[in-house]
Amino acid sequence: MVGRHLMYHVKTSMEDRDEFVFLSSKDCDLRNKADVEKLFSNTEYDAVVHLAARVGGLYDNMAHNAKMFNDNMMMNMNVMSAAFESGVKRGIFCLSSCVFPAETDLPMTEAQLHTGKPHHSNRGYAYAKRMVEVLADIYNENDAEYICVSPVNLYGAFDNFNIDQGHVIPGLMHKMKLANDNEGQVVVWGTGIAYRQFIHAGDLARAIICLLFDKEVNGGTFNICRECEDQDGTMRPEEHTIKEVVSILGDLMGLSEEQITYDATKSDGILRKTVTAKKFYERYPHFQFMSLDDGLAHTVRWFNANFESARK
Ligand code: GDP
Repeated sequence: MVGRHLMYHVKTSMEDRDEFVFLSSKDCDLRNKADVEKLFSNTEYDAVVHLAARVGGLYDNMAHNAKMFNDNMMMNMNVMSAAFESGVKRGIFCLSSCVFPAETDLPMTEAQLHTGKPHHSNRGYAYAKRMVEVLADIYNENDAEYICVSPVNLYGAFDNFNIDQGHVIPGLMHKMKLANDNEGQVVVWGTGIAYRQFIHAGDLARAIICLLFDKEVNGGTFNICRECEDQDGTMRPEEHTIKEVVSILGDLMGLSEEQITYDATKSDGILRKTVTAKKFYERYPHFQFMSLDDGLAHTVRWFNANFESARK
């Protein structure tokens, strides 16, 4: 999803002198070390943006912790080592706010990443992703400029809209579309009281472009989330309960309140995992994130127009 948005922003905003090569899982299985080494052996690249991952929503993580760990470890180790060994000195690598400690002070800064255990539900994914920062740090001591971005929950066009595997926004959109078409019910999983932060995938793509071309940033991790001004003028990370998201999506997709029920027997996952993007905002004070209302409206339009291909 993020790669698709990066492709769009590169085409619309970059100058011709910058040539990007986009690869998908059809081009290479990144879990295969020899194949990854071959990818990097033919061309001299200036930089790599590594967005490939095995990702899923809460329930997919709970069901497949070992696969999440194995696949992500293999992909990340293969890409990072092949890039470094072939002389690619600059790179952007992707973490996630869900890999931070489950019990710690909120909002979390980048410095808290390794200070406690991740939430049990996604420990496989979390530990694999934490190793990306470890490896980047080691390569940076050897003249690499590997930067990590750690976004909050992402959504947007080209997401995985599979109900069982997907994150909350695409999963709910899919369920709501089906309920709408059949005048049926939508079952929201969990109680709806958990808080999450969300950004549109296009905003992460734009943040990646900023960091990639910023000659004064040579490493480190950047949390990426939207912050809003409080009544007293201080900036604070924006977060929403799942109930709020259900309500916005229900309105956008034309569902009545009676069509929505909650299954409280299902896990809520972690109740809160707020991160702050103070470091990113200090570096790019004018960066604008899309509001959740606008981002969801855009994504719903895209989903409705692309339902048959997106529903898989
Ligand atoms: P997380 O942020 O890593 O936990 O991942 P998700 O994007 O899957 O969000 C999970 C939160 O959304 C939990 O509080 C769930 O109870 C809630 N949720 C409600 N309905 C759904 C759904 O249909 N799919 C998913 N994935 N989560 C849902």
